[in-house]
Amino acid sequence: MATRKATKKATPRKATRANNTKSNGKFKLTYATMFNPPELMHTRYEQALAQVKANMGKDVGMLINGQERFVAEKFDDRSPINTDWLLGTFQKGSKQDAEDALATAQAAFPIWSGMKWQDRVRLLRKAAANIEKRVYEIGVVMSLEVGKNRMEGLGDAQETADLIYYACDSMEMNGGFVKEMGRDPLAGFNATNFSILRPYGVWVVISPWNFPFALAGGPSGAALVAGNTVVFKPATDTPWTGRLLAECLRDAGIPDGVFNYVTGPGSTVGQTLIDDPRVCGITFTGSYDVGMKIYRTLANGKHPRPCIAEMGGKNPSIVTKNADLEDAATGIVRSAFGLQGQKCSANSRIFVDNTVKDKLLDKMLEKTRAIKVGDPTLRQNWMGPVVNATQYKDFGDFTEELSQAGTILHGGHKIVGVKDDFDYGKGYFCEPTLVDGVPSDHRLWQYEMFLPITMVEGFDSLDQARRRANDVAYGLTPGCYGSKKEAAWFFDKIEAGVTYANRPQGATTGAWPGFQPFGGWKGSGSTGKNAGGLYYLPLYMHEQIRTLVEKAK
Ligand code: NDP
Repeated sequence: MATRKATKKATPRKATRANNTKSNGKFKLTYATMFNPPELMHTRYEQALAQVKANMGKDVGMLINGQERFVAEKFDDRSPINTDWLLGTFQKGSKQDAEDALATAQAAFPIWSGMKWQDRVRLLRKAAANIEKRVYEIGVVMSLEVGKNRMEGLGDAQETADLIYYACDSMEMNGGFVKEMGRDPLAGFNATNFSILRPYGVWVVISPWNFPFALAGGPSGAALVAGNTVVFKPATDTPWTGRLLAECLRDAGIPDGVFNYVTGPGSTVGQTLIDDPRVCGITFTGSYDVGMKIYRTLANGKHPRPCIAEMGGKNPSIVTKNADLEDAATGIVRSAFGLQGQKCSANSRIFVDNTVKDKLLDKMLEKTRAIKVGDPTLRQNWMGPVVNATQYKDFGDFTEELSQAGTILHGGHKIVGVKDDFDYGKGYFCEPTLVDGVPSDHRLWQYEMFLPITMVEGFDSLDQARRRANDVAYGLTPGCYGSKKEAAWFFDKIEAGVTYANRPQGATTGAWPGFQPFGGWKGSGSTGKNAGGLYYLPLYMHEQIRTLVEKAK
């Protein structure tokens, strides 16, 4: 527990390490700097790719109480680039495994929460440094497991380190969240009042497959630095990435039992974790349906418990008649099709002033035609495959539905066949797809398809654009292109947690901790506070006021 002395010593060291660290030698990795990366990045990625490929196909254990755990039932982790590539065999954990992980996390809580916060910060910074040391290996694993291109894989890995550093910096800047309050006047007594934020206990982290490192390591880092112990379950599509996180934490010297990694289906292992009364808080990132189910399950417990649920998006961009159409087209295409449209922040709805619609579409079509789809570990390919067979099937179903409802301006097909010695039919490759003319009341204006499909609609007034943009259950990452005055109007009127204006690097994507803390309003998020930002870490602690009265001498 932090002391009063610690409060005095704490100084605002820096706003965030992300502002001033060149963590990868010659340059600082962020989604924005990777827009045009230096040669060194490619060389190091290719070295790591060769090493990781030589290491594929192993039987990989869970990590519970610092021990490897192998069980009889396994599942295969195959690459969406080529499903013949067996990345590894992972453990299909049971209810018992999940319960064992919870028991060990509960047993470790008194020791971990009883440590000085400065010691936890030191260990977590070491874990973040371990991630940076392995950043190329981790990026490559995400390319193979999710289908991320080089920049996306590396960005996810480096972002995780920065999220953990940010949590450490936040703890430090706030003096471990030990604050002296006012002294109430009591004649004849000395009274001191302190506000202290303390950890809750066992924290469960459940992550999605699309940002399998950052959305596991970010919440885990915050939960741990705050003093909670963690049970972490990765998505079934990305167990290898999850395992690498567990190794980086273990190798930093985090004591056994403080961070536990369990694998297995959401419907069994995940469900056991959310149903267990020993759980004191959860961070879930994933779909709206599962997130709301978890939120409601926690509310049905014996007493309220925090549930940080980060859920879907259906992000609009608004392009006005005053926009720089070149920047708009660049940013929109990057956000619509980056990571094959499988980002919660993907730009899936485009609203453009009718007077500039044709011009914008021409530019977007030119840029979309230039996108290279293929093995994402290769430098020339910007789009890889979609993540799994379900996503691949959904692409076929949605494009069929949209071709009947409107006009497919580009794409609309799965990619099969052999080209340049690469067999597209072995993976899940889809064309970037741009659709126009779908009636405003069509269900797919509301539904998060989570695929490389984006829909365009013209508007006649800004008010109409505002209504259309806000008319969804989500509120995550809208974008706008227009004059400075229109940008101010947009920020004021849009209902969402992360908003961008006139950004060519991405209309709706590319947030970075310390720069664009990430979180959503409405059906996109449960807390209204953004990860990698000023108000995030306190979500992992509850407040205790300590009033001590002593007789005056
Ligand atoms: P899912 O909701 O399908 O799964 C997310 C996680 O929940 C997985 O680990 C899954 O395990 C687990 N899970 C599934 N069912 C249960 C259950 N009953 N109890 C406990 N855990 C369960 O989402 P996806 O992985 O498909 O991710 C895509 C979604 O994530 C999109 O909607 C996207 O918008 C959203 N997302 C939101 C972000 C944000 O910050 N707001 C960021 C990134 C993604 P398993 O894989 O084993 O089924």
